[in-house]
Amino acid sequence: MIIAKAWRGKRYAVLGLARSGAAAVRALVAGGAQVVAWDSAEAERAVFAPSPLRGEGWGEGQPSNVALGTAPHPTLSPEGRGLVDVAPLDDLSGFDALVVSPGVPLNTHPLAATARVAGVPVIGDIELFAQARADLPPHKVVGITGTNGKSTTTALVHHILKTAGIPTLMGGNIGLPILEQQPLPEGGVYVLELSSYQIDLTQTLDCDVAVLLNITPDHLDRYDGFEGYAASKTRLFAMQSVEHDAVIGIGDAPSAQIARGLSAKGEHLTKIAPGVCMDQSNWPALQGPHNAQNALAAIAVVKALGVSEVDIDRGLTSFSGLPHRMQQIASYGGVAYVDDSKATNPESTAPALAAFDRVHWIIGGRAKGDDLDACKPAFGHVVRAYAIGEAGPRFAEILKDSMPVENVGTLDAAVRSAAANAKPGDTVLLSPACASFDQFRDYEARGAAFRAAVESLA
Ligand code: ADP
Repeated sequence: MIIAKAWRGKRYAVLGLARSGAAAVRALVAGGAQVVAWDSAEAERAVFAPSPLRGEGWGEGQPSNVALGTAPHPTLSPEGRGLVDVAPLDDLSGFDALVVSPGVPLNTHPLAATARVAGVPVIGDIELFAQARADLPPHKVVGITGTNGKSTTTALVHHILKTAGIPTLMGGNIGLPILEQQPLPEGGVYVLELSSYQIDLTQTLDCDVAVLLNITPDHLDRYDGFEGYAASKTRLFAMQSVEHDAVIGIGDAPSAQIARGLSAKGEHLTKIAPGVCMDQSNWPALQGPHNAQNALAAIAVVKALGVSEVDIDRGLTSFSGLPHRMQQIASYGGVAYVDDSKATNPESTAPALAAFDRVHWIIGGRAKGDDLDACKPAFGHVVRAYAIGEAGPRFAEILKDSMPVENVGTLDAAVRSAAANAKPGDTVLLSPACASFDQFRDYEARGAAFRAAVESLA
């Protein structure tokens, strides 16, 4: 567990007790803080509520020497450990901070407004990690943000470091909650994937290397327009010391503007220009122009951390990619089946279309916008489209003048139809440019359904 000495004796309100929130409660309590925790879902609260069946602990595997209190203002236990109290949060006076999970919309949640009025800082688990850094063995932190490519770049940086024999772990939006992990030994590198929501909840994270891949419209419901979203990304660099490194993809206007604003960094700023030609043939999991950007960003990061060229090459070659990101899952009769279920907006689908020559494109779900303009430059790669889900009828209408398109409704029907039409050398690509929630639990369930449908063809 990662713990800060500074938490001892302080009072924290924690809202949202899913993975990262629950980890924050455990770490804060282990660090001697007093915590009042709440989640609107009873099931999440139950993890911390005292239960006669479970005694004083937090269920199996949890430290049993951590006291649980139901009094409104628990005091420090005799062992110096903190306490947690499960209670609704309304009055925040007397708290040192409100810790919220990134899923809580700060712009509309009433408690965020209460915190602002009471002058209580609103923070997330990444800020708690930042507060704990002074107590960790000497280490470096890499923070990676952007609309698309965060997970891939984070996993790639982590993989190259591991290949080079450097102790490293991944956290933030990816993998286990950061506070729950074992601290790295001296010389370790924490690689953090940071959504803009997580950056909004972070005030003092001074990344040794901070990365911005790109900024395109997404999640605008949580911001006062595009400017607010872009400003959130800028803050990652505002928190950095001058001598720390910044890596910025300058393929879009807002990111390029942020890079211009950092020109005083001189050699500590690396700009990744779009469309750089390089040989990606030895990097099987890093195909397509978008992955060229991700690879260039990762290379800049590990170079700044002093990794050798030889180790960088080994890492790029042996990287196996992440599930549901342009992942080839099968090949039957010369037809490749590629799962890009993670592409939930047109900007992230465009590079997948561009990466293959003759594509049978499965598209649709719950649309995030009204058009497919970002994909237009790659329409020439599509042999035929198969529209599914809520957005199916509209997308079929949008596409019909540019390519043959069938509104097939379901993923199963799309796979069957695409398999019947595909010729050797073609690629059947699920890259839906939409969220999955109309037909699936999440993009992972959608990817799993695609795999099942493809495997049933065998
Ligand atoms: P994130 O974690 O930011 O959502 P991922 O690495 O999981 O990003 O990739 C999600 C999808 O976005 C991929 O399936 C791919 O189609 C697309 N993508 C990946 N990297 C980039 C990039 N640099 N620019 C644009 N799209 C990208």
